[in-house]
Amino acid sequence: MGKIISIANQKGGVGKTTTAINLSAALASLGRKVLLIDMDPQGNSGRGLGIDITSLDKKTVYDALLWNIEPKKTIKKTLMENLFVMPSNLKLASLESQLYSEPIDKPFMLLSRMMENIKDDFDYIIIDCPPSLGLLCLNALSTSNSVLIPVQCEYFAMEAVAAMLSTISNVKKSMNPDLSIEGFLLTMFDSRSQLASEISDEVRRLFKENTFCVSIPRNQSIADSQARMLPVIAYKPTSSGSTAYLSLAKEIIDHE
Ligand code: ATP
Ligand code: MG
Repeated sequence: MGKIISIANQKGGVGKTTTAINLSAALASLGRKVLLIDMDPQGNSGRGLGIDITSLDKKTVYDALLWNIEPKKTIKKTLMENLFVMPSNLKLASLESQLYSEPIDKPFMLLSRMMENIKDDFDYIIIDCPPSLGLLCLNALSTSNSVLIPVQCEYFAMEAVAAMLSTISNVKKSMNPDLSIEGFLLTMFDSRSQLASEISDEVRRLFKENTFCVSIPRNQSIADSQARMLPVIAYKPTSSGSTAYLSLAKEIIDHE
């Protein structure tokens, strides 16, 4: 059975989607079969892998979660042989309000139920979470083996980490006792910035065992690759961003 890893932090713009896309691609390039599930209505994970999310008809995560569309029908191939994506678009934002009009039992287990028939088909399932700790994120956490928390070395980073830790602890108590922390990942790291170095030191001091050795550098090739709807490993394989995400994938494989 594959390993399911959520990429989560309720703080916006910290590198969740960038990590979801590029970690998935790096794992695929190392020969693992990977599915990236986009739990964010912004739809950027699908878009970043070249999917036109405006013309998905009923083949999105939302349709599989709520309307019994066969999940396998929503899975799209990408330009990498081992890499698949289940894309989302803005429709997913209406999930919560739909559930007010048609309440269902255990709404935070929708994703877990949906994944029953697909999780054995992949070595890794990576879930990109939205920037909130609402129902979509809870669905991701309650079905995951672990959570990877990207931390951008900016002001208020530690407040977001504290909120994440408290959510993880609640999910463990109520929905998923086996949820573990895959690791804290320092993102958009700029070694010339005093603040970035201070926050990086603080995270490594507090969460020594749980912080990935590699930090993801702020790297123009990573930003440019997204505009071209490619993982950085396909766009600029020799860039520092590409090397960093490959190192991250190797650390995660080593955790097995
Ligand atoms: P949201 O909370 O809105 O979902 P997010 O946490 O998913 O955001 P991203 O979308 O991955 O964050 O990144 C935010 C912005 O920072 C994007 O424009 C992305 O291209 C850029 N970015 C992320 N990581 C890097 C990096 N290592 N180097 C340069 N730019 C980066
Ligand atoms: Mg995102």
